[in-house]
Parts: sequence; C-alpha cells; structure tokens
Amino acid sequence: LFVALEGPDGSGKTTQAGALAAAWEAAGHPVHLTREPGGTDLGERLRSLVLDPEHAPIDPRTEALLFSAARAAHVERCIRPAVEAGTTVVTDRFIDSSVAYQGVGRGLGVDWIVELNEWAVDGTLPDLTVVLDIDAETAAARRTWRQGAGGTGPDRLEQETAHAHEQLRAAFLERAAAAPERYLVLDATTEMDDRTAQICERLEELLEE
Ligand code: C5P
Ligand code: MG
Repeated sequence: LFVALEGPDGSGKTTQAGALAAAWEAAGHPVHLTREPGGTDLGERLRSLVLDPEHAPIDPRTEALLFSAARAAHVERCIRPAVEAGTTVVTDRFIDSSVAYQGVGRGLGVDWIVELNEWAVDGTLPDLTVVLDIDAETAAARRTWRQGAGGTGPDRLEQETAHAHEQLRAAFLERAAAAPERYLVLDATTEMDDRTAQICERLEELLEE
C-alpha cells in the first residue's frame, strides 16, 4: 500500500504520519515512513536548496520543476521498490502538495501541475491520500508553537495569512472531493488517536479489496 498525508502547514501531517506508521506496524504490517520534499539523498539535497532562504524567492516554474524532480527520484528509488516488496509506504506530502502550493499558491495552474507530476511519478499514485483539514487560526497557533519548538521555521509562502491558508485548504479539499474513493478527509483538530484508528481501518479495507 502507498499512503500520502496531505494538508496545509500546521495540520499535523508529520506527527500523524509517525503515529500512523507506528500503529500500522504494530498491527503487523512493515512500514516505510518518508517525506517530501526529501525521501532520498538527492531529494533531501533538493529540499535544502528549495527551502534555503538564501535562494529565495525561487521563480515558480523552477520551484515546481525542482519539487517534481525530487518526487520522480523519490518514487523511482524509494516508494515503488518498497511498495513492490510489500511494504506500506507512508509519505508526509506528495503530489497534492504541489497542486496546492505550486498550482494554486504560486498560481501556476492545477492542470499543469497535475500533468507534470503524473508524468514524474509514472503511474505510482497513492492508494489512499489522507487530507488533514484545519482552519487558519488553529493552524497558525500550531505553527507558532512548532517554530518555537525548533520546527522547520517560518513558512515560505505568505501562509501566515488566513486567506492563503484557506486557498491551500480549498485546493486539498477539492482534490479529495474529485476522487472520494481514494481520499480520506479528517478533521485535524480532534484527538489524533481517533484519526490514526480511522486511517488504519481504511487501510484494512483496502487490503481486503
Ligand atoms: O511540511 P514540510 O516542513 O515538509 O514543508 C516544508 C515547506 O515546503 C513548507 O513551508 C511548505 O509550505 C513548502 N512546500 C511547498 N511546496 C510543496 C511542498 C512543500 O511550498 N510542494
Ligand atoms: Mg510537517
């Protein structure tokens, strides 16, 4: 199985990904936990380049191509081989992050970003994408806490603004609404253990199919 966790900054993807990986492994399934941008040596190096304030601002097309290049490497070197070997891959972000941040946030257009990335991943798409849904205010509070706690630092777009948050949030929800059988939208403000259980339940169903 291949599972992606998506949602705006401050939605708790990283924490949820860790909890899911632990729970699913405890249920007897081998898991590989990974993230984007990143996941491979090359991907992690691209991540540092793209996120390095020294290079900011990167023009949107360059940024979109770098993220999709890192994703192609991630799929080829990490995700596809692991899934083929029977491991469940859980990734913190995947294509939908590009659709939201580059397609909508940077204004490049959803269709281009979908086409570019579907080409980059060559057919390897998540069996399930979990969207962590969160309002701007709660997400902002979490981000502030995370920055104080040695997190990834200030976000790169103007995501502190509630407007930008809502734009990204809508982009994730729209992707989910277009293919409900491959998505699970969860309220990110409730108890994490409940969400973990719901995701595992859905994964068990997928295994039975
Ligand atoms: O969530 P994570 O710490 O991995 O994301 C790092 C940063 O990269 C975040 O600020 C996020 O907004 C940004 N990002 C992006 N486009 C993507 C993926 C992440 O701008 N496709
Ligand atoms: Mg995170």
